[in-house]
Amino acid sequence: MRMRPTLSWTPTEDPQPGSTDPEPVAEALSAGGVLVLSGAGISTESGIPDYRGEGGSLRRHTPMTYQEFTASARARRRYWARSHLGWRTFGRARPNAGHRAVTAFGRHGLLSGVITQNVDGLHQAAGSEDVVELHGSLDRVVCLSCGASGSRRDLARRLEEVNAGFEPVAARLNPDGDADLTDEQVGDFRVVPCAQCGGVLKPDVVFFGETVPPRRVERCRELVDGATSLLVLGSSLTVMSGLRFVRQAAQAGKPVLIVNRDPTRGDRHAVTRLTLPLGTALTDLAARLDVPVDA
Ligand SMILES: [Zn+2]
Repeated sequence: MRMRPTLSWTPTEDPQPGSTDPEPVAEALSAGGVLVLSGAGISTESGIPDYRGEGGSLRRHTPMTYQEFTASARARRRYWARSHLGWRTFGRARPNAGHRAVTAFGRHGLLSGVITQNVDGLHQAAGSEDVVELHGSLDRVVCLSCGASGSRRDLARRLEEVNAGFEPVAARLNPDGDADLTDEQVGDFRVVPCAQCGGVLKPDVVFFGETVPPRRVERCRELVDGATSLLVLGSSLTVMSGLRFVRQAAQAGKPVLIVNRDPTRGDRHAVTRLTLPLGTALTDLAARLDVPVDA
């Protein structure tokens, strides 16, 4: 889901080849003022799949759009059935070495902020503070009628109550927190309304076809303005919602460093793209900079 306007990207004329030398990233970190922008790649080691990486599911899985969700009760039932199932797995996911290293860099005063495109809450679970969740969080739900915000945990409890015996085996879990189910499996899953007004509940995440709230974008722009450099962790920067901050940093002459195995849309703006696995790479960088990381 989330705003992912289609933008055709042809790899740059001068593609960033990828590097295994961590030195440029180490230098940027030791200079401080680093703004982290993280994507799905940092959570794969926590068992949360990536749409676009190896085994990525984008080709097989079409995320629901905002328009579809709001227009159709049937679509919402399908969404919530799948999401309810996926939540059980997401709820069990734990931060990995990559998240812990980011937290350690923050505590060590090397970061000016953390923006994440992920909706899994794992940076916060690792202890990072003031994380800007660009695409929202699966942890919360909002009412489309009265705007009331509630906890996903409470909603999950209500859904369990009215769907006793709903135990289908999902084919696959997707990064936005839902599982693949057939129409038959969705069956007569029951959706619950807003407890305040009876309105339609939506996860507090930005769907495909939906824009990131302007105030949140503004906050991120300010973070880029205040940063010394931008460090992209585990994102292919396929969507404009993240790529625009890379462009902003590059236009301001700030170094952009990327740690991502595969080429990204931001490579042409980057000083380097480190291709090492994130957990290992960040743990090694922390050791190199004498930054203690919680076990
Ligand atoms: Zn409501």
